[in-house]
Amino acid sequence: MERGTREQNIKRIIYLEDRINQCQRCPRLIKCMRKPSFGKGDLEPDVMMIFESENNITTDMDQVIAMRDMIKERFDTDRVYHSFLVRCQPKACTARESSSCIIEGKYLDKDYVCLLTNQVCDGIPIKASTTEIMNCLPFMLEEINILRPYYVILFGEIVSSYILKSCGVYDIHDGQRSYKYNGITLITTVDEMSFNAEAAASIGPA
Ligand code: SF4
Repeated sequence: MERGTREQNIKRIIYLEDRINQCQRCPRLIKCMRKPSFGKGDLEPDVMMIFESENNITTDMDQVIAMRDMIKERFDTDRVYHSFLVRCQPKACTARESSSCIIEGKYLDKDYVCLLTNQVCDGIPIKASTTEIMNCLPFMLEEINILRPYYVILFGEIVSSYILKSCGVYDIHDGQRSYKYNGITLITTVDEMSFNAEAAASIGPA
């Protein structure tokens, strides 16, 4: 598929986000979140960064901007976009686990106050299950195919493994490597917790 124009990409991304918004494939996840995580950045990107899901790093705009700036410098482009493999952040929550009541719909109101505790949600971000990752993976593959960036940076082992295998790459090596897929260069790197200037310096255009 050719790279779309910005206008085509905007329409396709809006259509994708509408479907993500309505998605109910993971009942455990949708109860305890207000809205799914969407991609952000340039809609004709040269480089796309993929994180596993929202966490303390990716919700901190200063840290996200710092990572994006390192990538911009390394790839000599301003056209950077970032997104998430799993759109609904899984959380561990003692209130939910110990509650016997079942409430229809979401547990969080618009201010992130939980209907079970009447307090702002203090759930702890945890990893998604294999099933949840598989449920959400098609959205990520569609997003890559809509935007068709020249480079896709895969942060961490989970993201690398699922995206590469979906692209037919099974011979996956440790560390930072590049793989070709349908005109796109997929680059594996450490997860966002460990990503720093040194890691950024060791990836880049071939
Ligand atoms: S994590 Fe993905 S697949 Fe699961 S409910 Fe959210 S949007 Fe749907």
